[in-house]
Parts: sequence; structure tokens; C-alpha cells
Amino acid sequence: MTREATPRIAPRPAARMAPHAAPRIALVLGGGALKGFAHIGALRALAEHGVAPSVFAGSSIGALVAAAAAGGMDVDTMAERATALRRKDLFRINHMGMLLDRMQSRSIYMEAPLRALCDHVVPEGTFAELGTRLLVTSVDVERGIEVVWGTPGLRDVSIRDAVYASCALPGFFPPGYVGGRPCIDGGTTDNLPVAIAALNVDAVIAVDVGIADVPSAEGLGEQGFATIYMRAATLMMHTLQSRSLERWQGPPMLLVRPRVSHISWFSFHHTEQLIEAGYEAMRSALRELDTVLSAHGGVYPRRPVALRVDGDRCIGCGLCVALAPHLMALDARGKAFATTPHLEWSPADGAFVRQCPVDAIRVDDRGGPSLAQQGHAAAR
Ligand code: SF4
Repeated sequence: MTREATPRIAPRPAARMAPHAAPRIALVLGGGALKGFAHIGALRALAEHGVAPSVFAGSSIGALVAAAAAGGMDVDTMAERATALRRKDLFRINHMGMLLDRMQSRSIYMEAPLRALCDHVVPEGTFAELGTRLLVTSVDVERGIEVVWGTPGLRDVSIRDAVYASCALPGFFPPGYVGGRPCIDGGTTDNLPVAIAALNVDAVIAVDVGIADVPSAEGLGEQGFATIYMRAATLMMHTLQSRSLERWQGPPMLLVRPRVSHISWFSFHHTEQLIEAGYEAMRSALRELDTVLSAHGGVYPRRPVALRVDGDRCIGCGLCVALAPHLMALDARGKAFATTPHLEWSPADGAFVRQCPVDAIRVDDRGGPSLAQQGHAAAR
């Protein structure tokens, strides 16, 4: 007999919104270097849908776009500036530093172009002076802790300094000083700062452009150190982010993942394509917004899936059981099987599937509405 799973949405005691209250929505924009241009399209779709976030949060380029939006820059202006950006506007080799300081050089690229970009799009002044709530992640590289600028007690600092630091990919750009602290790219520890943004809001809309999936990259082992470094950073961020999203216990979250994984982190030739991908992904995701706003928690959109293991392929390594003990087990032959073969998954679920070394785990869409959609339709 087929066993139907209950959805993996943890019950939350938090109250739902009052039926007619304007929902407080946090918009979280993730890091992903130039793939972050997709955020501009996402903002366009939100504006068309009439969604006005009460909190903007971001990491790295997500911080740059979030700060521009919180400062009131319109989407057309953002798109124009993104389309006009060229490699020389951002990347200028730090020849002197590399020549004179060698291994002591603070970065491969110079600070000034990234500073100029921040000055061009990020509002002047401090977080305290900004009318809109803005959160920018960074990492205090000396203390080794994440610092989220814009939170209480961390508002009297320059927004531009914070955004520069949030974008300062270690090794590529020098750390930036924010309120006297030397800070680097917020994506180092939190590429999609949903947890801090979720405090005191009814729902979160998160846009993940950098590390939603990590496609195979044949020949990468022969590439230069920058490519291998970025690959390693991507894998670290992907693992960190997957685990925090799978365990999400905050308010309901609409997780939007534009299809940008095939585009390089530093491609200046795909800007329009990226903006369009962000727009289409957000437009499609917003069909679920009513379901999200009426939910108690969980990550959306959700879809019914069937999970199974190809027993002929499975070598019994046990990794899937170690990573997802709530879903997988080993049978008497030492082969893996799904303890709950029919279930509902959001984009945050199933990261363990791709870790199978022999590609033995299959996930098939079962089609039809999710339980949350059925519940929302019944409540109308
Ligand atoms: Fe089998 Fe793959 Fe699970 Fe290893 S990870 S036990 S090979 S299904």
C-alpha cells in the first residue's frame, strides 16, 4: 500500500496575520556576484504585483541591490546601470600590490572601482537615517563573526561602507572598514540572510541566485586558482545554506531561484538574460504568494514528489541515510530506500539527493496541487 506523507511543515505557535492587516514582508536578496542582476528582474515582478517589502536584506551583490531598492532607486535605473557595467568598471588588477607585496597583497583587484560602484547606486548616510529598514551582512574578519548592519545598535554606520564590505569577496577585493571593524563578504557565512530578516515579519521572500544548485563542471581541476577557489566557496556556501533552509522554522518563506546556474559568476555578457530570469522566476513564484501568506510556516512553493532508490545502482555507502535520516534508511541487503516515498518538497528540500556518489536516488514530480494549495483553495 502506498503511504502518503504528511507535509514537512513544522507547526508554529506564532499567530497568523490579522485577516486584513497589510502583511509585513522581508525581501532577502542573496549573493552571487554578477548573477545578482537577476534581483533587478525580481524587483520588477514584485513591483508589478504590488508587493512592497517592509524589510530589505541582502548579502554581497544582494546587499548592493537591496540597498539601492531601499534607497528608492527605480528598477529601470537599476537595469540601465547594470547593462552599462563593463569589466573595467569593476575589476582593475592591483598590479602594485601584487608586485611589491606578493603574498602580503590584500587583494587581486583594486578597491576603488567597487567603491565607486557602491557610491553610484547605494544611498548616502547611515542606516539610522534611511527611512526603510535595510539589513546588510558582512563578516568581521578579525573576530570571525557575522555582523548584520542595520540591526539595532548597528545602524550608525555608513550604508556604503557596509555594502562595500558585504561585496568584498576575500582575496578579490580588500576588506572594508565598517564602524571601525574590518569586514569582508557577508556571503562567507550567510549568503541568504533569511533568519535575521525574518524577525518581526509575517513572511519572507528570498531570492537565491548564487548557489541553488552546483552543476557538474568537467575539467575544473585543470582551471586556474580563482576558478577553483570560487568552486570551493560555492560548495561551502551551498552546504551551509541548504542545511539552514531545510531546517527552516521561521515564518512562511517564498523561495525564488531564477535559472542562472549555467551563467558564470563574472559574466558581463548576460545582464539582460539575468534580469529576465529573475523577472520570470519571481512572476511564477508570486502565484503562490496567497498560499504563503495564509500558511503558518514552511518553505514554498511545494510540490508532490515520489522519492525512490535504484537498487541496482546503490552501493550501500549510507551517505543519504547520514544526511537525511528522517527520509532514508538501509534495508537488510545494505541498500538504501526511502522511508517516506511520497512527500511534498519545496526548493529547500532534497539537497542530499545530488550527493549520492552513483546517482541512484530518483525524485519524480507526482503532479497536482500541494496540500497547502488544496488547503488555501478550500479556505477561500
Ligand atoms: Fe545508496 Fe546513494 Fe544512498 Fe549511498 S547515497 S546508500 S549509493 S542511494
